[in-house]
Amino acid sequence: MNLIFLGPPGAGKGTMAFRAKEHFKIPHISTGDLFRAAIKNETDLGKQVKSILDAGNLVPDELTTSIVKERLQQPDATNGFILDGFPRTLYQAKALKEFSAIDSVVNFTITEDEVIRRLSGRRVCKSCGESYHIEFIPPSKDGICDKCGGELYTRADDQIDAIKNRLSVYGESTEPLISFYKNEGSLVNVDSSQHPDKVFEDLKAILK
Ligand code: ADP
Ligand code: ADP
Ligand code: ZN
Repeated sequence: MNLIFLGPPGAGKGTMAFRAKEHFKIPHISTGDLFRAAIKNETDLGKQVKSILDAGNLVPDELTTSIVKERLQQPDATNGFILDGFPRTLYQAKALKEFSAIDSVVNFTITEDEVIRRLSGRRVCKSCGESYHIEFIPPSKDGICDKCGGELYTRADDQIDAIKNRLSVYGESTEPLISFYKNEGSLVNVDSSQHPDKVFEDLKAILK
């Protein structure tokens, strides 16, 4: 099953991808995670993209697309994958079509106000990448990941200025993909404003 998770930043794509990768036994490929790992490891790629991510702007299309193309050639992606955060532009969507066939594009729907609340309270595990929320999905122990015991941190781009910029970038560059994939016949909508358990139930039902 080749899936794309689409939706504004903070919609809950990563949270659902964590559940879906275990359920469907397919890898979760997050371009944001790939970039953040490169920044942490201070690779050439990391140095190139750090200021772009911090400001909430988009990494250039060609660079992003070539990274995804390479990642999809890894053996673990042959039986399916979840693309989370890619494509984000029409250029990327059209490029992806040239090297991969997508079964379903899940569009996670949510209001802008709710997204701001979610991003402002997001905490991410340094070790495994799981997302928490100080209010909505708190860890059992403050600052510690339930899954792996890793330390939780606040992403540099989860500050109000970068959040606002990311939302405007989303509206301008990514939202047009909804009609692109509607035309392709592969779009399904999931109401992601609900409790995470209900969002995941709806997701499983719609992919059956
Ligand atoms: P995305 O990957 O789409 O940017 P995340 O999965 O990181 O979004 O979720 C954004 C924030 O919202 C995180 O703090 C996460 O814990 C929280 N969150 C995710 N899904 C829900 C939900 N259904 N209800 C409430 N909070 C949620
Ligand atoms: P969120 O879902 O919270 O917006 P992501 O982890 O998906 O965050 O992405 C973080 C950042 O990584 C983006 O703001 C952008 O700078 C960069 N990025 C991720 N995916 C892409 C992409 N497909 N094209 C360009 N830039 C990307
Ligand atoms: Zn963890």
